[in-house]
Amino acid sequence: MLNPPRRVDAGAVPGDIAKMNILVVGSGGREHALAWKIKQSPLVKRLVCAPGNPGMAALGEIRGVTATDVPALVALAQEIAADLVVVGPESALDLGLADRLAQAGIACFGHSRAAARIETSKAFLKDFAVRHGLPTARHGTFEKADEAKAFLDQFQAPYVIKADGLAAGKGVEIAQTRADAESAIDNMLDGRFGAAGARVVIEEFMAGEEASLFALSDGKTSLLFGGAQDHKRAYDGDQGPNTGGMGTYSPAPVLTDAIAALADARLIKPTVTSMIAEGCAPCGVLYAGLMIDDSGPRLVEYNARFGDPECQVLMLRLESDIVPYLVACANGTLADLPAPTWRSEAAICVVMAADGYPGSPVAGSIIRGADVDFGDAVTVFHAGTVRDPDGTLRAAGGRVLNVCARGATLSEARDAAYAAVEAIDWPAGFYRRDIGWRAL
Ligand code: AMP
Repeated sequence: MLNPPRRVDAGAVPGDIAKMNILVVGSGGREHALAWKIKQSPLVKRLVCAPGNPGMAALGEIRGVTATDVPALVALAQEIAADLVVVGPESALDLGLADRLAQAGIACFGHSRAAARIETSKAFLKDFAVRHGLPTARHGTFEKADEAKAFLDQFQAPYVIKADGLAAGKGVEIAQTRADAESAIDNMLDGRFGAAGARVVIEEFMAGEEASLFALSDGKTSLLFGGAQDHKRAYDGDQGPNTGGMGTYSPAPVLTDAIAALADARLIKPTVTSMIAEGCAPCGVLYAGLMIDDSGPRLVEYNARFGDPECQVLMLRLESDIVPYLVACANGTLADLPAPTWRSEAAICVVMAADGYPGSPVAGSIIRGADVDFGDAVTVFHAGTVRDPDGTLRAAGGRVLNVCARGATLSEARDAAYAAVEAIDWPAGFYRRDIGWRAL
């Protein structure tokens, strides 16, 4: 039996809130963007990031606890008397960090392990969607390759084959031929994704335009929290392998108010109600990947946390203080808050990745010129960097820097972001030159 999370004395009006100690868990561009936005809040007394990154070190204290070391994170939250823990990555949710924090009486923005299954198991999500009549692609779940292959008879190319579990955004294959579909099934069930590939989900292919819609939930209600569009393929023209995301922009033109309202009514609200009914009430982000066509939005997937790099453009555009929203999700008081306000400006994020990403990114190369002041419009978030004792910045991951900008129009934002990208001296990195092309 879990104890209810400790209530934090917070509401919508900064004046009547006690200042808080906040622990941000994670080390990517998403967490840097969250910490950047949290740091701007007058409600913050102390900001601690674990394990953080060199960019986050400029905002708060960095503590060397990894995002998957649940006992050490709980101990750290206790040590700093955290009033709120904000969990960035899905891996920590899957390991039960939110559950353990609840047991310790510490307020947490992040789903329980059971609620996070909407992301961590595609089979769970698809069955949940069928149980509750959510609009999504027809599917089947299989452990045996011959049964999965036989199910392909029900569809025509292109075929959609997914590893069941978490695979860092790389567990989905859209096969153009039956032969490719069958070898994708064999590859996944052969252990390419470890336990994540013990089951495969075969889905109907949905045509349309994709967008990401965000909502917050406190386990009782939900509140729409912006939208974005991303570029998943590694290279220009949406070519090359799938990645965790090479760039984003917000607002997404395809995500009109009418489409967002439809998605809220048909997907988000029924999802919250049904999760509560199934005993896994959400607490944190519901990130709906939508496929939009003339019939409206359909669900491609849910994620249980902010997208990376979608979060970066959302934080750039969010005008409201984010802290009351995070606290309200943890406390069950979201209904007391107004809808957030957004800057009218557009925002863009260009991901700079290490050569070799998404396969085997080259580590250790030197990056120069990322720390300079590019002006008010531009913000550089760190995603996979380390800093030597002498201050040298090096690549230490696949996606390394997120160069983000705001502008009166998306094209202004794009020009500002690319000017900064070109000023960064990093020969061992690459980036897409066409982020935002669909909207432009
Ligand atoms: P997922 O990890 O489920 O979001 O899938 C990754 C990407 O594969 C999505 O962003 C879509 O571009 C594509 N995708 C997944 N499922 C489908 C589907 N049923 N129909 C069309 N495209 C899909």
